[in-house]
Amino acid sequence: MTNPISSDKIESEDIDPQFTERIVEAGADRIRTCIQCGTCSSVCPSGRRTAFRTRELMRKAVLGLKDEVLASPDLWLCATCYTCLERCPREIKVTDAIIIMRNMAVDEGFMLPQHRKASQKLISTGHAVPIDDANRKVRKDLGLDELPPTTHSKKKALRDVQKIMKKTGFKKLIEGQAEEGA
Ligand code: SF4
Ligand code: SF4
Repeated sequence: MTNPISSDKIESEDIDPQFTERIVEAGADRIRTCIQCGTCSSVCPSGRRTAFRTRELMRKAVLGLKDEVLASPDLWLCATCYTCLERCPREIKVTDAIIIMRNMAVDEGFMLPQHRKASQKLISTGHAVPIDDANRKVRKDLGLDELPPTTHSKKKALRDVQKIMKKTGFKKLIEGQAEEGA
């Protein structure tokens, strides 16, 4: 696969029409009506602080540049604030399209190490960010139980959560990602 950004040229082998079709079928049904007006980029809070450009992402999605989109760390810079979706003159579900592409990225093995780590914590403790010693102390100082009434203190709840993650395939997905990333 060539990199259309570095070569400024898109080869036919870079295009996967099924990619756009899957985004449409998954709910971003108006994505092909994008007129590249740039409103989404201009209102994007993430784009103000990073090189992330929503309009560019939408263009690549419509062109079917699947490998490039799914492998790009930019896909994870969206804060899912939904401002672009509210402002798009074509009423394209921009944020939903980004979430759909993220799901595809994870399915294809492109997961950020930080997300993998948080998911592993979720599986083992029921929390993406488990309580630490500092938080235990603050709770104690406030007169609260050291552990909150969540999976931290309810072993049955943790077993239930783990059962859900197993049944939904989340555990397998994360463990598979861990092996690939190892
Ligand atoms: Fe396309 Fe809508 Fe973004 Fe304009 S605001 S570039 S039409 S997605
Ligand atoms: Fe930007 Fe994402 Fe918010 Fe859209 S939903 S404006 S892409 S941060």
